[in-house]
Amino acid sequence: MLKKILIFSFLVVCIALPLIPSYFYCIDFFDSLFEIYTFSMVSGIFSYYYFIIVLIISARIKLLDILFGHDKVMMFHGILASIAFLSSILHFILKISISFSISFQTITGGIALSIFAIVIIITLLFMANPFIRIHWKSKIIDYSKVKCFHNFSVIASVSMIIHVNIASSTINTPGKQLSMIVIGAVAILLYIYHAGIRLIIQKINKYTVVSVDKLTDSITKIVFKRVSCKNTFFISKFCMRLPLMRLYRIWRKHKSSNLDLCKSLKRNKNTIIKRNPGQFAFFRFKSKAVGFEEHPFTISSETQTIFMSITVKKSGDYTAQLSNIIVGDSLYFDGPYGVFSPIDNGSNYVFIAGGIGITPFISILKSFSKSVIRSNITLIWSVRNVSDLFENELFEKIQKDNSNFTYIPLVDTDITETFISTIKALDKPSVYFCGPPLMNDFIKLCIKNQKLRIHNFYYERFSL
Ligand SMILES: Cc1cc2nc3c(=O)[nH]c(=O)nc-3n(C[C@H](O)[C@H](O)[C@H](O)COP(=O)(O)OP(=O)(O)OC[C@H]3O[C@@H](n4cnc5c(N)ncnc54)[C@H](O)[C@@H]3O)c2cc1C
Repeated sequence: MLKKILIFSFLVVCIALPLIPSYFYCIDFFDSLFEIYTFSMVSGIFSYYYFIIVLIISARIKLLDILFGHDKVMMFHGILASIAFLSSILHFILKISISFSISFQTITGGIALSIFAIVIIITLLFMANPFIRIHWKSKIIDYSKVKCFHNFSVIASVSMIIHVNIASSTINTPGKQLSMIVIGAVAILLYIYHAGIRLIIQKINKYTVVSVDKLTDSITKIVFKRVSCKNTFFISKFCMRLPLMRLYRIWRKHKSSNLDLCKSLKRNKNTIIKRNPGQFAFFRFKSKAVGFEEHPFTISSETQTIFMSITVKKSGDYTAQLSNIIVGDSLYFDGPYGVFSPIDNGSNYVFIAGGIGITPFISILKSFSKSVIRSNITLIWSVRNVSDLFENELFEKIQKDNSNFTYIPLVDTDITETFISTIKALDKPSVYFCGPPLMNDFIKLCIKNQKLRIHNFYYERFSL
């Protein structure tokens, strides 16, 4: 319930935020309400607030991630950025249709608009659209470089904040100017925290690789652990004392149920990372084998151990090099993130994995099977080749030890019949899916067309 209220409030605040300054602006200029100038100012206000919210969201705020899930936050980020950009174009066109003069204020607006335009076009072409990305990726542009370029939008945001706050319409209404400066400053500070301070904290919190196993030709498992360090302990404790972090921790305690598993752990203060099974993190390896780029991977180990692991499949330049990482290399860890974490509370579950999409389920099932599994679980794992079933033994053992766990590996087989019969055999199960986007669409369509009775459908996308 608390979660639903928070989600609703967040969406209302985000969407309605520009309405308040727009309302005050329209009241002041009531005589000219339907003139082009008013429309241009209102579109400018919308553009400003939406771009600022986009910047705030990009700071990877964990509370938002817990409420919506990281991929949905990123999707919202993209939609809001597009609306903000269209509003800024409208603002620009309407403004020059009335009058245009070159001044420091208009130049800052022009710089912001041009950078936003370039960043948004490049992002739409090479980050957000998988078809064009796949077509071009190896020939021209690498995803991580585009991601780096995406950060130029911060320069555009700063230019936009200056443009708006030195405009005569803002200066003449101090209340409006104050609110715009405050929200702009909050966004920039959050970004500085995300891009700078968070990285420093990550550098202090050292992790080291303890083993690298080639499970198959294309799949590598990397095990790592946090290195204890007294300084780290004090610095991270200090950060946890910051008011916002305290509020966040209190809220997480309140949220409780998802963390039941972790709560029961006797935490070794400095080495076990509190996490839920199925979560992921962003990793940077400090190694000669790979560049210092940041990539997201699911934590495939169970939650109750100081050793964490990722299981990675070669899918491009970076992942192809990861098997060359060596024991002793260090890594930076930002996480955990994600809400793909079912609770073992006696419910009916159908887990469906396509290929390497098995990683969250490895973590979930390893964590569940530490005690007796209480839920009724069927795992369907669909792969192309037998050799891709790299955790076959693990799932067979869990099946042997737990009568309420069924494991169905499918090698190069159509999943439809198995999926439909599994769902029909259970009473309104919750379906968890992780795998290729096409398979995701297919499962959703199958549920809809066959009118399958399920409790809920959750999915994890391996792309942001
Ligand atoms: C939440 C999440 C969990 C994931 N868990 C796993 C896992 O457990 N095992 C696994 O093998 N793979 C996982 N992935 C996918 C993995 O992140 C990508 O395969 C990897 O980043 C590809 O990098 P590349 O340079 O080798 O390939 P590329 O060919 O450069 O990229 C292939 C695709 O991976 C995505 N990608 C590439 N770089 C990034 C980046 N820096 N940030 C975000 N996405 C990127 C893009 O969608 C891209 O099209 C996960 C992805 C996400 C988003």
